[in-house]
Amino acid sequence: MESCIFCKIAKKEIPGTFLYQDDEVMVFKDIHPVRKFHVLVVPKIHIVDTGAVSEVGLFAKLFKVAQKIIAQEGLNGKGYRISINGGGAQLIDHLHMHLMAPVTKTTKM
Ligand code: AMP
Ligand code: ZN
Repeated sequence: MESCIFCKIAKKEIPGTFLYQDDEVMVFKDIHPVRKFHVLVVPKIHIVDTGAVSEVGLFAKLFKVAQKIIAQEGLNGKGYRISINGGGAQLIDHLHMHLMAPVTKTTKM
């Protein structure tokens, strides 16, 4: 989608600090991190939110990449959170998963 920031990052029209990418999924740093570690796990194709996903295998791909980042960044034991906004709560209308760390058992939502 032409005006979408994450589509532009996927097409390298605007920069992103990438930790990982393949043909379908990219991971880059959030520009306004709310934790020391805060990245976005994003499909390269434009899908508005969870409710708009028609191919459920996409969720598996996103979580598989999240697992890779969790291992790569040594987040096991540190505590992390994965969150997905949707249904109009999202600032960017292109599906993305926030992966944030560290998070503790008592960290508020
Ligand atoms: P959400 O409210 O779930 O849509 O969150 C969108 C996230 O995208 C926010 O945490 C923003 O800080 C982040 N963001 C917006 N523009 C960029 C960008 N150009 N590069 C990296 N992260 C971005
Ligand atoms: Zn998009």
